[in-house]
Amino acid sequence: MACCGKLRKLATETARWMSAGKPYRSDRTISAIFTHICVPCEHYKSKTETTGSCKVCGCGLKKEGKTLNKIAWATAHCPEKKW
Ligand code: SF4
Repeated sequence: MACCGKLRKLATETARWMSAGKPYRSDRTISAIFTHICVPCEHYKSKTETTGSCKVCGCGLKKEGKTLNKIAWATAHCPEKKW
């Protein structure tokens, strides 16, 4: 995805999340999605043992924490509809 496309998508995701009241997934759900869905996915790009990114949307993915972690936002979803 081109840089401008990623920025546009991020702006859309951010607006949706903010208008929904900034909801977060639980720590347990974030960890489960990361470990059982993203890490084994063919589109996952690992950075460290607990952090990486998605090659489809370019977003940051983490096992824990809410900063720069797409999985943490309850309104965000996998671009391949896996979660
Ligand atoms: S967000 Fe979806 S497509 Fe991207 S790595 Fe995770 S499961 Fe794969």
